[in-house]
Amino acid sequence: MHEMGLMEDAIQIVSEDAEKHGFRNIDSVTLIVGDLSNVLPDALQFAFEAIKRSGESPLLSAQTRLDLIRERGRAKCTVCEIEYEPTQYLAICPECGMPFGVLLSGETFKIESYEGS
Ligand SMILES: [Zn+2]
Repeated sequence: MHEMGLMEDAIQIVSEDAEKHGFRNIDSVTLIVGDLSNVLPDALQFAFEAIKRSGESPLLSAQTRLDLIRERGRAKCTVCEIEYEPTQYLAICPECGMPFGVLLSGETFKIESYEGS
């Protein structure tokens, strides 16, 4: 489950920034997770809860929330130029059936923001 490592990294980045700003508590962390990012939202939530319980991140409390924003996958066909939602990386165009789609979005995994005090 690579989500554990991703979540640990995200919490570390957020914690360091929060400490720099003098925050004592992180209320919420918001991440953007693309449909095609190979990151499973459920596994992220699970990892987040485990990190909270571990007590290794002093700025996290039982009340700290993880918010996930889903980024849908979008692709554009280079042949007929329609946009569609690919179900996998090499999805064929639903219009012309050619496998020449270019991915526009859906691969994102990043920290959007956090709130603390
Ligand atoms: Zn097409």
